[in-house]
Amino acid sequence: MNKNRSDWEQYFLSLTLEGRAFIDGEYCWAASGETFDSHSPVDGRFLAAIASTDAADADLAVLVARRTFESGVWSRLAPAERKRTLIRFADLILAHKDELALLETLDMGKPISDSCAIDIPATANAIRWSAEAIDKIYDEVAPTAHDQLGLITREPIGVVAAIVPWNFPLIMASWKFAPALAAGNSFILKPSEKSPLTAIRIAQLALEAGIPKGVFNVLPGFGHTVGKALALHMDVDTLAFTGSTAVAKQLLVYAGQSNLKRVWLEAGGKSPNVVFADADLPVAAEAAAAAIAFNQGEMCTAGSRLLVERSIKDQFLPMVIEALKAWKPGHALDPATTVGALVDSRQLENVLRYIGIAQEEGAQLLVGGQRTLEDTGGQYLEPTVFDGVTNAMTIAQEEIFGPVLAVITFDTVQEALAIANDSIFGLAAGVWTRDLSKAHTFARGLRAGSVWVNQYDAGDMTAPFGGFKQSGNGRDKSLHAFDKYTELKATWIKL
Ligand code: NAD
Repeated sequence: MNKNRSDWEQYFLSLTLEGRAFIDGEYCWAASGETFDSHSPVDGRFLAAIASTDAADADLAVLVARRTFESGVWSRLAPAERKRTLIRFADLILAHKDELALLETLDMGKPISDSCAIDIPATANAIRWSAEAIDKIYDEVAPTAHDQLGLITREPIGVVAAIVPWNFPLIMASWKFAPALAAGNSFILKPSEKSPLTAIRIAQLALEAGIPKGVFNVLPGFGHTVGKALALHMDVDTLAFTGSTAVAKQLLVYAGQSNLKRVWLEAGGKSPNVVFADADLPVAAEAAAAAIAFNQGEMCTAGSRLLVERSIKDQFLPMVIEALKAWKPGHALDPATTVGALVDSRQLENVLRYIGIAQEEGAQLLVGGQRTLEDTGGQYLEPTVFDGVTNAMTIAQEEIFGPVLAVITFDTVQEALAIANDSIFGLAAGVWTRDLSKAHTFARGLRAGSVWVNQYDAGDMTAPFGGFKQSGNGRDKSLHAFDKYTELKATWIKL
């Protein structure tokens, strides 16, 4: 039975929220005893005291992860055995779907219907997909001379730490821990300080599924404390990151200052969504609205720059604004809500700051721009559209990470491509046209890791996801993700 808002409230009362770290198969407070309070952006309610781990806890978690890795208790299991355990883990996540969905929504503000329909199933699916893949990947034999045998083998890399953001707390984490664990590594997850609850909760499910203690550890806490300690640690082999470009740059410095750990970065975006005059405009308008409003615009792939061919702009923009009416902020625990709360008051203030800058720089506010639902005590914002934006304006260049759409007009294909690529980011892009040749040519010209033609934000576990330019390096999802968590070894045997 689908729960209504009061069912979710009742269910919340039945839960005991865990805020401790998880190291070596046990929940524990930070060695320092420090905690911080977590409040929900949905309505300001207190959620839990969270362990504020730091370098001492990172040292312990890395020690434990190294020890379990070296012991072979996970790393030397047959891939088929790791597969079975990880599939149990995925099943347990689905079995706790309501609980995890509620934690995700209360922690970071997204609509409960999204947490139920997307975040939790996608997390389980990422684990299942990586698990299913791992006993189907073969090593290689090199084409050597007759008296040589050249073996090219993949080995787990060792201790993997992941630092993840708050916009899809579990999904972003699973894109990293699923392939890393499947490949045999030991893992330390540092969730965002803004959304640690589900990461903490699933650690116990991992143990229950049969992942040996010490293989999957969770360190809640701040970036500048425990995040930095992991990034500077001499015994972390790989650091997998999803978050902002500014922090991504810092992590490369930390790797250089420490042990040259491999650093994989999924960073920010400012994605162009390009609509040509010959596109299916009603479909493009619906997609353009979703591309900026889904997940409150807190999307690395948000289609935040809407490039529209001048000849159809007056016809197209009203369609986008009409479509945006379906994206109305509401209480995040109401199952009918499509736009929830922004993650916290700081994020809301920052998005409002960008709205102010846009107006100062001469962009025209068409809709939205205001905080809303203040009586809930939550952090809600109306989806916002600016027309008359030039690509040089701040709102076209910087990632806002909120539901703020910048509409930019163009006249020619070349101009559209130049604007689309005029960004430090290169995460994703959309292009809308019925002309097959134009679509292909444009897609080739785009400097972006994902290109969507006549749709926006498609994807599943079968295709790699990641960015060009300052959107990062390496790829999550698909078989390519295993490259991040394995070393290639060439073994030469003289025959
Ligand atoms: P953020 O960079 O502020 O924080 C991300 C993580 O890094 C958090 O866990 C944080 O505690 C940690 N951190 C912060 N400073 C650190 C430091 N000095 N050392 C180590 N760790 C540190 O990002 P955010 O606000 O949590 O998330 C939003 C950002 O994430 C946006 O830029 C968005 O585009 C990006 N993102 C990218 C993708 C992708 O796949 N490319 C996906 C989702 C989100």
